[in-house]
Amino acid sequence: MSLSGALERAPRRERARFQLERLRAVVARVHERVPFYRRRLGEAAVAPADIRSLDDLRRLPFTTKDDFQATYPFGLLATPLDDVVRLHASSGTTGTPTVVAYTRGDLDTWSDLMARTLRAGGVGRSDVVHNAYGYGLFTGGLGFHYGAERIGATVVPISSGFTERQLLALRDFGATVLCCTPSYSLHLAEALGAAGIPPSALRLRVGFFGAEPWTEEMRRAIETRLGLTAFNVYGLSEIVGPGVSVECEEHHGMHVHEDHFLPEVVDPATLEPVAPGVTGELVLTTLTKEALPVLRYRTRDLTVLDPEPCRCGRTFARIGRITGRTDDMLIIRGVNLFPSQIEQVLLAVPRVEPHYLLVLRREGALDALEIRVEAHPDVVVAGEEAVRGLADLVQRRVREAIGIAVGVTVVPPGSIERSPGKARRIHDLR
Ligand code: AMP
Ligand code: ZN
Repeated sequence: MSLSGALERAPRRERARFQLERLRAVVARVHERVPFYRRRLGEAAVAPADIRSLDDLRRLPFTTKDDFQATYPFGLLATPLDDVVRLHASSGTTGTPTVVAYTRGDLDTWSDLMARTLRAGGVGRSDVVHNAYGYGLFTGGLGFHYGAERIGATVVPISSGFTERQLLALRDFGATVLCCTPSYSLHLAEALGAAGIPPSALRLRVGFFGAEPWTEEMRRAIETRLGLTAFNVYGLSEIVGPGVSVECEEHHGMHVHEDHFLPEVVDPATLEPVAPGVTGELVLTTLTKEALPVLRYRTRDLTVLDPEPCRCGRTFARIGRITGRTDDMLIIRGVNLFPSQIEQVLLAVPRVEPHYLLVLRREGALDALEIRVEAHPDVVVAGEEAVRGLADLVQRRVREAIGIAVGVTVVPPGSIERSPGKARRIHDLR
């Protein structure tokens, strides 16, 4: 077993020792080099020497997306730009972009972590990795690229989009591993069907899907349609990009690479840690980043933390599926609702396709939600009554499961916009 494999399985107590060492080093580093953190630590009345146990993590100040924006572009850097060899930016669609930076050492660590991520799905030298995450400022493309190269697999750096070309590459280069957003994998499956290429004509074995929320129902759809085993991968640019956590073969939560990132889950209102298994906001602290170390980053992602060792033998804590973001919660007639809850209901209805859009409108003083969802072609062929029947059924299921009345429009296959990257699920007309 490689050194890193042994590390992933080390007893918690053993690991805690060097995590503490790393935590102390990172606090000292930002205190010395980043005026923003020196000020924040001062305000919190914590000095680097006060970090004596991992529990002292809780005394450290939080970092938020606003802090990144207020210090845009380079205010959080702990190295001179001369030592920075790469920049990326978050794919956020609103406001100032978030710029992140990497030293040579950071890229090296990140490649190792991405190699570890791919190995969790059994990827090795003989694999052909079809990497359809976007190359560019987005961290997905280059993150997976260097991880796959580090393993010695064959990388096809196809990036996102140009779906027709993707189909030929998938088939002709014998791709065994697919990397892209879950929504784009379904689009690829659809396009393969339209081109008359059955999954059996492909050699796909595993896929690594992340960068956007998805559900177990979506996993089943992807696995059936592409004939592969799907792995959930989670990460974010502020922390490193992909490579923060990944599922193991148990598919029961994603192991956080705890030798490089310390996870906490807190109540977003009180900012106090919640008990294992209770949903809260994921907070991450980087332990080894050189250019951009981050203390207690509030990800806005909602999940649960499970510190128990896993059946696979790894002792790294696991986070559950991301069920929503603190900023994508909808409040429909007083009911708090995340798009993923709707997805779960929709995809459990037979003859509904995994493509949907939530349209929000203001009706008087109330917010109204319309679900637009695609039907299987058979439903459309069967005629208007079948379409109406399906819409009624979806409406009923949503009311039963979530307790709200929503409008449902069943639309023909292919009519909801496909994205080569993160799917847009909400159309807000308010
Ligand atoms: P970016 O920094 O642009 O790559 O976006 C990171 C964000 O994408 C995260 O904060 C999450 O909201 C989302 N994300 C990434 N991976 C996943 C995943 N596996 N499941 C759900 N959301 C994810
Ligand atoms: Zn495991």
